[in-house]
Amino acid sequence: MPNPYRGLPSVDSLLRHETVSALAGQVSDDQLTAFVRAVINGARDRIGSGAVDAPSDAEVLGAELFDADALASEVVARVRQTSTPSLVSVINASGVIIHTNLGRAPLSEATIAAMEAVSRGYTNLEFDLDGGGRGSRLDHLDRMIRTVVGCESGLAVNNNASALLLVLSTLAEGREVIISRGQAVEIGGGFRIPDVMRQSGAILVEVGTTNRTRASDYANAVTERTAAILRVHTSNFKIVGFTEEASLGELRNVANEHGVLLLDDLGSGCLLDTAKYGLAPEPTAQESLAAGVDLMMFSGDKLLGGPQAGIVAGRRDLIETLKRHPLARALRNDKATIAGITATLRHYFLGEAESAVPVWRMIATPAATIEARAQAWRKALGVGAVQESRSMVGGGSLPGESLPTSVLALSEADFPASGSATSVAAALRMGEPSVVGRVEKDKVLLDPRTVAESEDASLIDAVRRALGR
Ligand SMILES: *Cc1c(COP(=O)(O)O)cnc(C)c1O
Repeated sequence: MPNPYRGLPSVDSLLRHETVSALAGQVSDDQLTAFVRAVINGARDRIGSGAVDAPSDAEVLGAELFDADALASEVVARVRQTSTPSLVSVINASGVIIHTNLGRAPLSEATIAAMEAVSRGYTNLEFDLDGGGRGSRLDHLDRMIRTVVGCESGLAVNNNASALLLVLSTLAEGREVIISRGQAVEIGGGFRIPDVMRQSGAILVEVGTTNRTRASDYANAVTERTAAILRVHTSNFKIVGFTEEASLGELRNVANEHGVLLLDDLGSGCLLDTAKYGLAPEPTAQESLAAGVDLMMFSGDKLLGGPQAGIVAGRRDLIETLKRHPLARALRNDKATIAGITATLRHYFLGEAESAVPVWRMIATPAATIEARAQAWRKALGVGAVQESRSMVGGGSLPGESLPTSVLALSEADFPASGSATSVAAALRMGEPSVVGRVEKDKVLLDPRTVAESEDASLIDAVRRALGR
């Protein structure tokens, strides 16, 4: 009985194979050896499991190696796959402005520049340049949050879910927090506000019903164990019809009467008036502050338009308490994020957010400008038709709200032979660069609203390739 593994090349001989040795410089020697070993072990397993016939004795005697060329190609493929980054830029032609799966807010030039500037070298992240002693990384953000939101103090952590976790862990661990049943929501990706609350050690007390909760429901639920009332903005869905939620003003009264805190999870962190763009009013941080919340929490990368972060704003004494909790350390931001949030907030400070922050620029772009771009795409491509459609704000803000837009619609006549809207959309996704469009009624829709003008040329090339032109 011949040894079925006898024809496998040795690690050394596969490393000397010219296809493999040509990889020198693209991967370290140690890594290359590990890849070669893994490929040989894979072949060994395939023989062992009977998935591949072992070479017959005659073949082994005739050829020195077991399929060495194929194994060498496998090494090359594995090295390439590992060295190519999996996280890459994509062109968002879906018309969904804050697309969580596509990484939420694109950043302003000034934000990118600020993040880059502090990334290359050292910074005074936790260093007091005046006195030469230790400083706090949180101090860099406090002034800008305070100024822009108008609150006493602010800090930032990793994201809004962390902000909620930090606030409840610090201020309500082992105590009760009252929340409306209509606001105990899932925020996406299977994460639910009640789960985050329980993780903090707070005891959740749900009041009211899914569609109606009154101030008296909160008042009746207060006990001596109550730490806070939590309002959660139902940011990704809308209940319509026979509904009622207590206003922040009413909740402030209940909280005052019973000496408990009023906390507000705003979700999006909107600082501008969305009604100006024909959208439903998204609650703003300024309104929450005016209603007298003790603390509010919101995301940095939704309507604020900055890097991923969770911002907590409100009463100075409470913020100081948060800073001392061990979770503040565990959830802290790095220097690039701190620089990025500060730079994004600075656009609001300068009154230029609508033109400088990409998310707001996209919201504010007039329909006529978008139509002109869709027409320009159609002209450059010589295919498709421009039609009216709607862009979504998305990303846990303004549920159900959309903006009038114009899209380039590709339909059957434009597709390659035997192509469909689904197959063209897939070809666009898998192209380089990837383009994410929308499929609707057997058409592929491409919305210029969410595509930067600097991406136009790449988008046009990508569409041409996907259509096989
Ligand atoms: C999006 C959202 C969160 C979670 O924010 P992240 O920044 O994604 O962690 C929490 N609460 C509400 C109401 C939200 O809309």
